[in-house]
Formats: sequence, C-alpha cells, structure tokens
Amino acid sequence: MSAQPLILVVEDNEVNQLLTASVLEREGFIVDLAGDSTQAMERLRERTPELILMDVQLPGMDGLALTRRLKANPATAQITIVALTAHAMTGDREQTLAAGCAGYISKPIDTRSFAGQVREFLSRPAQDARPARTDAKLNGT
Ligand code: MN
Repeated sequence: MSAQPLILVVEDNEVNQLLTASVLEREGFIVDLAGDSTQAMERLRERTPELILMDVQLPGMDGLALTRRLKANPATAQITIVALTAHAMTGDREQTLAAGCAGYISKPIDTRSFAGQVREFLSRPAQDARPARTDAKLNGT
C-alpha cells in the first residue's frame, strides 16, 4: 500500500460524496469521485484505485451490478470493493459478498471510525481475482 492510497468513491448523493471525500482526504487518502457507473468506468480508465467505496443504490446500473462487472474484468478484478449500504439488514452482507465485495460499511458513515474501517479493508490480503459465484446456495433458504 502506498503512503497515500487512492480511493474511488462511487456515490450519487452529493452531500455523501463531499462528506466521504473530506473525511478520507483529512486522513491522507487521495480521492476520486464518480456519481454513477458510467463515471466510475471513466475514472477507472484513467487510474486504478487501491479500493473502491461502492454505493449500492445508484441511478442506472446499481452498485452490485457494477461490482460484478468489475470483478469479471481482469483489468479491475483485483481492486478491493467495499459496499456502502443504507440497508444493513439480514441478507445484505451476503448480497454484497456474492457480488464480489470484500464487505460493507453502513451509511450514514461514522466520521470518527470511517477512515479506520477503510484502512482495515486495505490491510487485508489481495482479493481473489475470480468472478464471484452467483449460485443459489449463497442466498440461503
Ligand atoms: Mn445512492
């Protein structure tokens, strides 16, 4: 991990974008912002972040669909993706993991612990580059 890791924040809510970016920048991260999946793909063509914070609910292609797409592409499959979800309910964790996320952080973010949570994901071993399995067993019964 470099001294100032690049984080791509994919989030359509402008207030959440600014809050997330300011908390991360204050902690020494470099932040790229994208408001939807199309913008996220554009940012990813320019430079490769060490971690993506992925809002689940986005206009157009949602965050989990975008995650599946990035994990299926060898050029982006190794990037750690952490879901940002406003619905920390039973089943959500399984959904984000099945899509290929390393885990999730609940919104609204806790500004005091957020950077530490991001660092913890960055310190984990590299992600498996294979596309996430999508078989029904992962969804339980
Ligand atoms: Mn959203």
